[in-house]
Amino acid sequence: MSVQFDIAVIGAGVVGSAIARDLSRYDLKVVLLEANTDLGDESSKGNSALMTEGHDTPAGSLERDLVVRGYQRYMTEAPQLGLPMRKTGAIMLAWTDEQRATVEKLVEEAHGEGFHNVHLLEGDEVARRWPQFRPGVLCAQWMPDEIIADPFSTPYAYVLEAVTNGVTFLRPWRVSRAERNAHGWRLRNDRGDVLEAGLVINAGGIRADIVEGLVGHSDFVMRPRRGQYILLDKPARAIHDIIAYPTPTPASRGILISPTIFGNVLVGPTAEEVEDRDDRGVTEVGLRALRQAIDDMVPALRDMPVNTIYAGMRPATNHSDYQIIPRFGERWLTVAGIRSTGFSGALGIAEYVMSLVFPKVFDKQPTKTVRGVRVPDLSETSIRPWADPEKIATDPAYADMLCHCERISVGEVRDALNSPVPPASIKALKRRTRAMFGRCQGFYCGARVQVMFDEAKVKRDA
Ligand SMILES: Cc1cc2nc3c(=O)[nH]c(=O)nc-3n(C[C@H](O)[C@H](O)[C@H](O)COP(=O)(O)OP(=O)(O)OC[C@H]3O[C@@H](n4cnc5c(N)ncnc54)[C@H](O)[C@@H]3O)c2cc1C
Repeated sequence: MSVQFDIAVIGAGVVGSAIARDLSRYDLKVVLLEANTDLGDESSKGNSALMTEGHDTPAGSLERDLVVRGYQRYMTEAPQLGLPMRKTGAIMLAWTDEQRATVEKLVEEAHGEGFHNVHLLEGDEVARRWPQFRPGVLCAQWMPDEIIADPFSTPYAYVLEAVTNGVTFLRPWRVSRAERNAHGWRLRNDRGDVLEAGLVINAGGIRADIVEGLVGHSDFVMRPRRGQYILLDKPARAIHDIIAYPTPTPASRGILISPTIFGNVLVGPTAEEVEDRDDRGVTEVGLRALRQAIDDMVPALRDMPVNTIYAGMRPATNHSDYQIIPRFGERWLTVAGIRSTGFSGALGIAEYVMSLVFPKVFDKQPTKTVRGVRVPDLSETSIRPWADPEKIATDPAYADMLCHCERISVGEVRDALNSPVPPASIKALKRRTRAMFGRCQGFYCGARVQVMFDEAKVKRDA
């Protein structure tokens, strides 16, 4: 016999997770289905984690509206969830007359579209405030409201709150078949599990087209766009502590150099259309482009040691806007093509989805009493448990250092393993705690972390 739900959300990326969290405010039976063993393991794990206020999205698009709203919600709701943010601001630099003309035009457009806290700075002021940039900057667009945030804890916080408020989270649960029934859909996975839902929301990210194909829709084609990165070690931040872009060209937004919320400096992403949506390889050509970006913008970073290199995959389609398509006659809602702004847009997208679903499909108000959650603040500016005498006095496990590079204690790893949404893989544990993310990449602590992970799993499975 299959389990009956009111709503099934397919995909626990940042978008599906935000939707599930908002749905948890309604008195409905909701299930969040994730193909991988853990949440946020596809597009949502490989982004720049810039929470953008939206002026660099196309004017008049749905993407613009939802990113603007997502940013506003994040500013209010992230602190309640314990999620860290830093308003470093962003700067777009012009070194040539042609670039100057583009920057001046972009500033004027931003003002015309209501983004008043965007400014044109002359080159001498840029050089005075940010001496790290390659000499000869003519002018820049300065956007002080741009923010860096935590890419991994954000979807985790959304899922944790959803689950705390009654959403069922099933993983791994890859929807491999969908059949219509009298009330909605019967969904199946390849293990033979079955469940039914009155409404299905497809938030399948880079695989949303495959999910659409299960029910016979083909309104868009996935055009995966890979983005490669170099992550520099933490001393780089003493040189560079602002989100910096080159002037965009019609072909590309360019490679940015930005601090991360964890204290490193990120260089990337490249933008390459690839055939294989799982090809997250790092290439020689890509690395050369990233190195060139360092030389072009902040040459003083040239000799900084590299922490790691990796690539993410943008779930872009053949359309330039988000693909949010209500098909309520079929009890289906498509939430796809969340290209390169989904981290910023997720809460705006979730709110928009609620406005589509209620009261059109379910005549409900968000009346449920919900419990808020807080996730650990893993940012470089937070007081780590090892440095908090009160925390250590309550539990000495917070003084027992496990990952020396990132200064993560046994207590924090234990807490992550005891979460109501425990990490299902070592990589997921890494994203929840930052253990093994440091200079040694787990060389010293990896074995001990693995033992803790295995023991917790045995306990959970018993
Ligand atoms: C290089 C790069 C840089 C970026 N920089 C930024 C940035 O700075 N700021 C910003 O706002 N955004 C940024 N983005 C965009 C952002 O990361 C994406 O828009 C966002 O992650 C998309 O989230 P999603 O939930 O739609 O997709 P995903 O994270 O891919 O989630 C979809 C989920 O659906 C699951 N799924 C798929 N098929 C099935 C199935 N059949 N059954 C069950 N589950 C299924 C997948 O396993 C996956 O977990 C960037 C992206 C990239 C790649």
